[in-house]
Order: sequence, then structure tokens, then C-alpha cells
Amino acid sequence: MAGRRKKKTAAGAIITILCIAGLLLMLALGTDGAFLDSFGDFLGSAALSPSAANVAKLVPGDNDDLLLYVIDTGNSDSMVLLTPDGHSLLIDAGESDDAGRILDTLSALGIESLDAVVATHPHADHIGSMAAVLNQIPVGTIYMTDFVTTTKTYEKMLGAIEENNVPAVNVTDGYAFDLGGVRFTVLNPQAREYGDANNSSIVLLAGYGGTKFLFEGDAEEEAIADMLANDSGLMDVDVLKVGHHGSHNATTQEFLNATTPSLAIINCGEGNDYGHPHKETLDMLGAMDVTVLRTDQDGDIAVFSDGTAVRYAAAA
Ligand SMILES: [Zn+2]
Repeated sequence: MAGRRKKKTAAGAIITILCIAGLLLMLALGTDGAFLDSFGDFLGSAALSPSAANVAKLVPGDNDDLLLYVIDTGNSDSMVLLTPDGHSLLIDAGESDDAGRILDTLSALGIESLDAVVATHPHADHIGSMAAVLNQIPVGTIYMTDFVTTTKTYEKMLGAIEENNVPAVNVTDGYAFDLGGVRFTVLNPQAREYGDANNSSIVLLAGYGGTKFLFEGDAEEEAIADMLANDSGLMDVDVLKVGHHGSHNATTQEFLNATTPSLAIINCGEGNDYGHPHKETLDMLGAMDVTVLRTDQDGDIAVFSDGTAVRYAAAA
């Protein structure tokens, strides 16, 4: 008896499913295909996260240039370099609530492990999601500065480094390494103690063929003066990741005269409390005819280098 009742229930379920399917088909036919279109849109949007949609929009599937992908995490920093042969380096990991966005972007770029991660300095808008990244993705080496703090975010990052056995290297001016045809050179911090975290930022120069990218972290005037004194021969870059979210205390005319970027990228959040980027910085860049891209206006930003020239695309 129980078996027969089960059969009846199963038959009922099949009839119900057929009825629903029939109803859906009628709706589809009766609405001139509009139902099918919207159902397709629903499936499409459900399949791609906003981060993945940005990657799909900005990065051609057959890209074989060096890619710098700047993730729009608001008034915080996170960007990744992906070499033509698939090596990857992440610079900073935004605030603590940016983990989803960062991990979705890395995934959409096909990055399942990172060769290297750079934590420019231990402020929450640069290492906020570093522990989450380290816990999710295998990392070859993490590069850090000597500057230490006692914040929970910093402790969490150190915990994740230890738990995941990630080799950690403290770097100073002159340290260099190669990755996938890209030469990385550290220009800051100098081998001395700094009074604040921003000036202890790792400043990283990436050279690919004849093109150069300079990543300043939140380095301010003190660090800039040190770099000009020690590394002026390494300047003259194509792309500048502007220091400290475009703050007036992180860009000097002397520094721009030495670096002469053609493209400047500013990581800043819409309506942020600090007024970043500051007018003084924008005025200096404008006077030198530097193309400025800002995450608050341009969203995610992709910069490509074929070793000879750079070009860019922006999501917004
Ligand atoms: Zn910052």
C-alpha cells in the first residue's frame, strides 16, 4: 500500500511539473519572446558577479600584454599585475569589507594562486582584506616593510601569514626581483626607521620592456625626498599610481618632473572624508597634461603594456 501511494505521489509530481513547464512555454510564446529574453538576462546576470562583469568588459579573452588591473575598492588600494605568461602580483588588499570584490576579480582574471603579494604599509585601507586573501589563495611570497603596528587588522594579517606558511620578506630600497618578464625594483622605504606608516610605504617600480609603472603606496613628502636623492636614475615612468589617494602631501612638482608619467591612477572613493584627491595634486598633473584616471569616476581600470607602449580601459 505504501508503495502504491508513493507511485501515486510521484505521478502527481510529474503532472505538476509538466503543467508548470506548459505554462512557462505558453508565457514564452504568448509574449512574443520577451519572457525568454528576460529569462536569459536573468541567467546572464546571475552567472557574472559585478567584478567579473567588469573584467569581461575590460580585458579581452586573448590578451597577451602585461596587465595592471586596478580594483575599484573606494578610498583604499588594491591592484594586481598579471604577466603574459600568467605570473601575478597583488599590491595591497583594500579595507576589510573589500575581500569579496578582490577575490571575485582575481577569480575572473583566472588567478588561482599569486606569485607575490605586496603589503605596502600596515594601514587598514591597504591590508584590510589581506588575511582573507591569504586564507583563500596560495601566495608565493609576501613583501612587507619593517614598520609594525598593534592593530587587529595587522595582527590578523600576521596570523594568516603564519597559518598559511607564506614566506614573508621585509624589503627596502634597492631590493629587486623578476616575475614573468617584469623587473620589480623597490625604491622605498630606505633602510632606516620612519616616524609614520605612510612614509614607510613600499614604493615599487615595475619595468616591462621599455615601459615603467611606479606604485607609490601612501608615500608622502619625506619618502619622496629620499627617493629623489637616491633613485633619480630610476625615474621617468609611463604609469604612476599616485601616492596616498591623491593627497596634496604625497605629490610634489619635483617628483612629477622626475617621474614624468603619461598616465596617473588615483585610488579614491566617491565623497570620501579626506577630500581625496586634493586639488593641488590634480592641478599639478593637469598642468603637465597627464591623463588622470580615478577609481571614484572610472571604476575598475585596466592598463596594458606590450613592452613598447601602454593603453588603458575603464569600467565607468
Ligand atoms: Zn591609504
